[in-house]
Amino acid sequence: MSATHIEPPLDSPAAVRQDVEGLMMTHPHPLVVGGDVRGCGTCGSYRDWIVISLREEVWLRCPAGHEEHEPRLDTAWYDRHSGPVTHWYDSYDDGLRDLGH
Ligand SMILES: [Zn+2]
Repeated sequence: MSATHIEPPLDSPAAVRQDVEGLMMTHPHPLVVGGDVRGCGTCGSYRDWIVISLREEVWLRCPAGHEEHEPRLDTAWYDRHSGPVTHWYDSYDDGLRDLGH
């Protein structure tokens, strides 16, 4: 019997059912927005983001848990960068925990 280990993709999209349906994915690499590497406005982190698509807005959550709306990104951008949804969570907290935040 051989064991097959499948690495999960770096960006693993997931969706959340809460009051409003949202989508989230990890973005471990620096995120370039408008030609600049996007840094957290509070702590300066620039990688290991969670990207959240909620209604028509895209929010970024840094590893320290700071959440910021990024008006230069939208759901079309999110769709281009995420793959098919692979997980459903009952709440954002469940999703964040599973994604390591
Ligand atoms: Zn931060």
